[in-house]
Amino acid sequence: MDVTITHHGARTGVTGSCHELWINEKQSVLVDIGLFQGAETSPGAATQDNQAIDFPIEHIEALIVTHCHIDHVGRLPWLLIAGFRKPIYCTRATAHLLPLVIADALRVGMTRNGALIERITSVVSELLVPVDYQDWVSVHDDLRIRFHQAGHILGSAFVECEVGLPAKRVVFSGDLGCKNSPLLPDPCPVPADTDYLVLESTYGDRNHENRAERADRLKSIVEHCVRDRGAILIPAFSIGRTQELLYELEDIIYREQQDPESPHRGVWEKMVVIVDSPMAAEFTKQYRQMKALWDDEATQRIEENRHPLNFARLHTVNSHDEHVRIVNYLRSTGDPCIVIAASGMCTGGRMVNYLRALLPDPRTDVLFVGFQAEGTPGRDIQRYGPRGGWVELDGERIDIRAQVHTLGGYSAHAGQRELMEFVGDLATGEAYVREVRLVHGDAAVQRKFREVLLERFPDLQVSCATDV
Ligand SMILES: [Zn+2]
Ligand SMILES: [Zn+2]
Repeated sequence: MDVTITHHGARTGVTGSCHELWINEKQSVLVDIGLFQGAETSPGAATQDNQAIDFPIEHIEALIVTHCHIDHVGRLPWLLIAGFRKPIYCTRATAHLLPLVIADALRVGMTRNGALIERITSVVSELLVPVDYQDWVSVHDDLRIRFHQAGHILGSAFVECEVGLPAKRVVFSGDLGCKNSPLLPDPCPVPADTDYLVLESTYGDRNHENRAERADRLKSIVEHCVRDRGAILIPAFSIGRTQELLYELEDIIYREQQDPESPHRGVWEKMVVIVDSPMAAEFTKQYRQMKALWDDEATQRIEENRHPLNFARLHTVNSHDEHVRIVNYLRSTGDPCIVIAASGMCTGGRMVNYLRALLPDPRTDVLFVGFQAEGTPGRDIQRYGPRGGWVELDGERIDIRAQVHTLGGYSAHAGQRELMEFVGDLATGEAYVREVRLVHGDAAVQRKFREVLLERFPDLQVSCATDV
């Protein structure tokens, strides 16, 4: 590579996304500043328990944010504490959501001091430079950037950089969404003449089911769960996955209402969907407000007077008291209902309270819809749950007698085939880019995906962040 990129995170796993793009020998920009979760660490010393910035920042001219998931922005407070006061470039929707995300990250991981949270988020707001998709913006004499739709969550983008003299075209994928995701437009194709593509590889080793199949599986898992009673717990990111799930559940309920012959109608008529997370509720509201960014299908549903993210049987829990009441109620009654709560990898948040109370109950079903990073409780439940094992939550060993399901197709990330289609033309074996650096994937997945890419695109150069 004749462009220098340093990876401070998402090197050996899917968390802590942070890449430093050098403009010249002395100056650079950061792309994302994500939180480490689970077992992943940085090449410096940062870990899940010590997120302090462990690299020099004086020469960094700007921060570019691809989207506001915590594994891409969660260390921003630590960056500010280290003294960073440079512009933060992102899309308009991301700029809108970011202060909320940061406030939540602070509350969960750092401080409950409201005044301090207020001060930090106001610094974030002052530094934000919102940019429209497709508009070029000059970050430095030798660096201009533009954002393209990534179809991953609202406001998500991949970023195209023209850097240095003579200019090289470098693209950071951020997280790439699936085609035909609920609510969101499809990702844009990679820009022509891209020299270097820094590509996420979360699902570089597998393909997803298509959307109709995964919606059918979601439906049949829920119907099956209702038969043996108990709660269905779905750990989900507050932003993105929660709204996608609500959108799909609304559609299932709607279709059941339209079909008087359906054998499962009774199940769905009574089904209560609980979103137990003030953050998820807030972001669902933001999603509803930013309808202009929805895709055609979602817009069509609104025109049919449907409310894809606010349907009748949806109940939102805000207060902590109500949360505790619902956990206890479900523990004692085993009433069937769907509970969606954060965190998506069971590393904290209200989901942990549900799991502690309901994992030992065989009537409970846990449904994973997102990627579970190595070393997180979510990965442990996924791995040991089906064998009747246990998981440690808040320092306590909890036996898993609940049923554990994984709905792999339900991902906000592109699968292997979609990632490959982003890189090149599968029919001709011609790549759209010269060189690929794989990041944001487990080490073994990066290496396997590298082989798959080389097989299909023999002229392509591919390296893995885990090996550099
Ligand atoms: Zn993401
Ligand atoms: Zn990510």
